[in-house]
Amino acid sequence: MYNKSKELYDEAVKVMPGGVNSPARAFKSVGDHPLFIDHAKGARLYDVDGNEFIDYSLSFGPLILGHADDKVVKSVQDAAVKGTSFGAPTELETTMAELVMERVPSIEMVRMVSSGTEATLAALRLARGYTGRSKILKFEGCYHGHSDSLLIKAGSGVATLGLPDSPGVPEGTAKNTITVPYNDEASLTEAFDKFGDDIAAVIMEPVAGNMGVVPPVEGYLQFVRDLTEKNNTLLIFDEVMTGFRVGYNSAQGYFGITPDLTCLGKVIGGGLPVGAYGGKKEIMERIAPSGDIYQAGTLSGNPLAMSTGLATLSQLTEESYDYFGKLADQLEAGLKKVFAKHDQPITVNRAGSMIGFFLTEGPVTDFDSANTSDLELFRAMYQALLDEGVYLPPSQFEGMFLSTKHTEADIETTINAFDKALSKVTG
Ligand code: PLP
Repeated sequence: MYNKSKELYDEAVKVMPGGVNSPARAFKSVGDHPLFIDHAKGARLYDVDGNEFIDYSLSFGPLILGHADDKVVKSVQDAAVKGTSFGAPTELETTMAELVMERVPSIEMVRMVSSGTEATLAALRLARGYTGRSKILKFEGCYHGHSDSLLIKAGSGVATLGLPDSPGVPEGTAKNTITVPYNDEASLTEAFDKFGDDIAAVIMEPVAGNMGVVPPVEGYLQFVRDLTEKNNTLLIFDEVMTGFRVGYNSAQGYFGITPDLTCLGKVIGGGLPVGAYGGKKEIMERIAPSGDIYQAGTLSGNPLAMSTGLATLSQLTEESYDYFGKLADQLEAGLKKVFAKHDQPITVNRAGSMIGFFLTEGPVTDFDSANTSDLELFRAMYQALLDEGVYLPPSQFEGMFLSTKHTEADIETTINAFDKALSKVTG
């Protein structure tokens, strides 16, 4: 059923580490080898063996209009004919900046980059340069890309300095990153009591999406906003995943909280490599060349990526998010019903078009509780779901994403697939 993928994987693994260009694709926790993709359209993904799947990964989030949306494809074709990169400004970049600022009002000025990793890395440098402080604070289980300062796991005990999460991250760098549990007011307060004067920024996913989907508990974002303000620490919302996914005005609009800086990526590129960071004008003007804090990029604001981004954002309306809510309601209810039928625990967490499930009684509010999910069952179910034509992001710790092309019929098919998969793996 997946023979050709296996053959291609055997070739790929000889020439690329793990056979992939990004570890999340490797299927390490769900199977023997990844599926190799031939093409995709709308909510459907087709692998090289000719299997068809309803896709809930959508390239780990960017494709909110589904695959190969007609207008997005046309926009990149039209742009490519005019030239793929100029190393000089284009009007498209200003149009993109204006659109992002209109939808995300806390962004008064924006800089385009080429990935989410670049966006968070640059936002941290800006926060450090602007405040003159060296420490940053992040939350356990949140992922912000793979730059040194952010590839840090929690030290032992509450509110301790971090430890490198990967060989190659210097201990000196890790010491400047404080890590605390998500959704835990006491730990955050303790960290500020200890290090408050030296914390340049708190960086957070306003809805965590990299430990599965974990929304903030009631009042938590406001608590973080108040505490950072009190300590003259910048609040950075990493909306690389949540931006234009959780709501028309992103997660900050949805929850009504205004950060100082925002990082974007994924959806704003419509499937091409893009990131962005922006925020208060007074802070952003410190970026070179208007200011003294350096950050640059040969392909930043690339015309192809600006075109696909604009074609994507301009097709999203308030109604798109109502539609996602309706589909997510249907999926949540269906999953709960199926799991109850099989006498298996499930916790469903959602925000806008992000929906995640954990194989545990829950509630799941942080990294520790996310880790109570039954990973063996997830692995078995993942394979069974593939066989039923449903492609999830290949890890328990990734959420499912919806697109405007998913239909109620797709959700119904998916719920039935879960039913069959559970029958198969739980007997
Ligand atoms: N921040 C968040 C919240 C993410 O989910 C990701 C990627 O998944 C990143 C940053 C890094 O983005 P990229 O993979 O484009 O470098």
